Amino acid sequence: MDFDLNEEMQVLQEAAREFAQGELAPRAAEADKNEAWVGDQVRMCGEQGFLGMAVSEEYGGSELGAVGTSVVLMEVNKACPSTGTTISVHNSLVCEALMRYGTDAQKQTYLPKLASGEWLGAYALSEAGSGSDAGSLVCRATQNDDGSFTLDGTKLWISHGDYADVAVVFARTDPDGGNKGVTAFLVETAWDGYKPGKKELKMGLRGSNTVELQLDQLRVPAENVLGEVNRGFHIAMSLLDTGRIGIASQAVGIAEACLDASVKYAKEREQFGKPLAAFGAIQGKIADMATGIDAARLLVFRAAQLKDEGKPHGREASMAKLMASQHANWCAKEAVQIHGGAGYTRDFPVERYFRDARVTEIYEGTTEIQKLVIARSYLRD
Ligand SMILES: Cc1cc2nc3c(=O)[nH]c(=O)nc-3n(C[C@H](O)[C@H](O)[C@H](O)COP(=O)(O)OP(=O)(O)OC[C@H]3O[C@@H](n4cnc5c(N)ncnc54)[C@H](O)[C@@H]3O)c2cc1C
Repeated sequence: MDFDLNEEMQVLQEAAREFAQGELAPRAAEADKNEAWVGDQVRMCGEQGFLGMAVSEEYGGSELGAVGTSVVLMEVNKACPSTGTTISVHNSLVCEALMRYGTDAQKQTYLPKLASGEWLGAYALSEAGSGSDAGSLVCRATQNDDGSFTLDGTKLWISHGDYADVAVVFARTDPDGGNKGVTAFLVETAWDGYKPGKKELKMGLRGSNTVELQLDQLRVPAENVLGEVNRGFHIAMSLLDTGRIGIASQAVGIAEACLDASVKYAKEREQFGKPLAAFGAIQGKIADMATGIDAARLLVFRAAQLKDEGKPHGREASMAKLMASQHANWCAKEAVQIHGGAGYTRDFPVERYFRDARVTEIYEGTTEIQKLVIARSYLRD
């Protein structure tokens, strides 16, 4: 048993940290303030090979594995969670989908473009009536005589759905099939009928566009079915196991940013003739932040390592996401507290961390859903 990253991962971590702190962190506040899409930051991530982390070298990827991807995502999210969300979806839900379920032809067509960053991928599962209960989605896919499908309906909450070049879209192919009546499709966003709609005005992650998607008589060729017809729900859920490691990594990154900001401020700010760092109550918060971050990081790496070893990791991914996201929210609350009134202003980054942390308990399965997944894994016969 080894609790340290190996040398290769340490080098990767150092490089990712230098890039993220040098290029992403200085742009994060401005993107948040202006609600400006982090396109340039995502392009820079592509130049670092961070858009091909799940892709094998055969298709031009950097093939970092799940541990390597987590290492990078922690650093990117510590600097800019809006960029982190974008590259997490692209890597964990789109590239991973193609690597796992794509045909040779689909891999040849899409992976080189996605891995290089020429193309960006989105993931369209959620709808107005189906969030946690994803299997109840109603977007329709009707098969035509030539084997192609026509997609109709509305998707909601789609991260960078307006900037993506290709999207993994889930639609119902069997109206009475429940979870077994959903199919995954690879949809090029330039095709007629793919129409991004309203952009959500969000509490946080304001540099990441979250949009509604209209699928209006959108024709998808038969060769763009991902996996088997009516097996899409299984694909969606299995991808979320990987996605949850990504969001847990994001939460660790945000929590680390909260800790760093809190340590810095506690050393600088003086009250009662002493730095805040001299007070036991503040020291206790710092200790609890740091201890929880280490615990969360270990849970993330355990889930990631299991994935890299090809072992089941659904429960461990949910545990990592549950713990890391709750702790990130607690750290963000305490970071604001340590900053006092200053923490409530935009002069310090902790109010942004507070807003950005919130969503880690909501997307890719809420806290309640993670508990359901974990409990079921113990309670089922
Ligand atoms: C910023 C952002 C980006 C997103 N990006 C994407 C994306 O790229 N692609 C995509 O497909 N989706 C995306 N989503 C959607 C996201 O995955 C959903 O918001 C999430 O799954 C929750 O669904 P919901 O919002 O419909 O909440 P609901 O499912 O309506 O849940 C509301 C509340 O009820 C609780 N609840 C629901 N069911 C149960 C239950 N059985 N037991 C106990 N409690 C329950 C939930 O935990 C929650 O607290 C994004 C969301 C956000 C906010």
